[in-house]
Amino acid sequence: MEQEYYVCTGCALLCDDIEIEVNEGKISKVNNACLKGVARLKECEKPAECRVDGNNVSMDEAIKEAAGILKNAEKPLIFGMGNSTTGAQKKAIGIAKKLNAYIDDTSSFCQGPVIEAILGDRIKTCTLEEVKDYGDVTVYWGADPSNSHPRHLSKYTYFPRGKERQRGWEEDRTAICIDVRKSDTAIICADKFYQIPPQADEELIDALIAALSGKVPKVSFGMGPKKILELANMLKKAKFGTICVGLGLIYSLPDVEPLVRLMEKLNEVSNFHLIPMVGQFNMRGFDHNLHDETGYINRAKFGENGVEHGPQCSVVELLRTKSVDAALVIGSDPMSSLPGCIAKELSGIPVVTIDPCVTMTSAKAKVSIASATTGSDSGGTAIRMDGVEIDIEPMITTDSLSDEEILNRIMEAL
Ligand code: SF4
Repeated sequence: MEQEYYVCTGCALLCDDIEIEVNEGKISKVNNACLKGVARLKECEKPAECRVDGNNVSMDEAIKEAAGILKNAEKPLIFGMGNSTTGAQKKAIGIAKKLNAYIDDTSSFCQGPVIEAILGDRIKTCTLEEVKDYGDVTVYWGADPSNSHPRHLSKYTYFPRGKERQRGWEEDRTAICIDVRKSDTAIICADKFYQIPPQADEELIDALIAALSGKVPKVSFGMGPKKILELANMLKKAKFGTICVGLGLIYSLPDVEPLVRLMEKLNEVSNFHLIPMVGQFNMRGFDHNLHDETGYINRAKFGENGVEHGPQCSVVELLRTKSVDAALVIGSDPMSSLPGCIAKELSGIPVVTIDPCVTMTSAKAKVSIASATTGSDSGGTAIRMDGVEIDIEPMITTDSLSDEEILNRIMEAL
């Protein structure tokens, strides 16, 4: 029987209720997905081609050239993989092991510390299905899912009917937004929006801990004790609370410790979980896979004497200190996501990209290899933002190789 529903790989929510129409072998219509998902699942605006030094080449030639660059490098870096399946990520880790290479992903400068704390059992978490069935209080902190994960509120946290939350939003559920600006999500949360100044998140965390401990909370910005106590009371009364952590909060904290403190306090007086608002559809999967292999989620280097780990192995530090002499970038665009002064260092080394679309990085790469788009043209498994493994079936059949197949062939050529 033909599959009715597919998975969208537009973000780490991995919505599994997508319907499609296919016309002449191409996806002509995508139903149930948000605009972001439709954009991901339909063809790239600029599909990638296999190229070496700007000239079109065959897949075989591109793979041979890529393998040559990696084999000849003394200190290669493998980066990205947030938009790759678990199978491809494991292959990339295998290549890093074989080459004694550095390996890192975007979690290195975003949700990594939170995922690490969850994997280390330092922070309590839950699944999105549990939030749907039991969640009565959801806090979006430094997150704007209305734009980053457009179906988050409708599928799981605010609007849906779940086992113990039959009446949906407002009556059965409360959504709170804490942010530095009135985002689209903050508008939905209406009077449950708590606006704070930039870099004030840790101060508010400490004030909430004080309020939850029966003390009078104080902050240096214009939020009086009454407002903080009102927020603390909502959190305390939650039967099943969830904090959905966005980049706004992560970037404002010195490390994950303030969040660990808050979660410990909340679970003394209430029942709270935390879910990281992961962006790329399988960034969390990469962190799980590298953690299984090395005990670290990112920033690692394989070597004869084991695995080195630390900030010196992060993509940012490696490029800043000119410590790598070649890079394999898989399904990622560091030229556009890293600060310009760091990204420009990629221009000084041979870069190999594997991507279905032309990106700023692939346009400047020495070798660009065109892959299938996971979700539409190829399948596999991925880890959703809440840690649940999701099977992805391809929607159409194409001749394009998946990134896992391309990495297999690079491994064979090494
Ligand atoms: Fe796709 Fe994310 Fe939109 Fe769901 S919310 S349809 S996974 S882009």
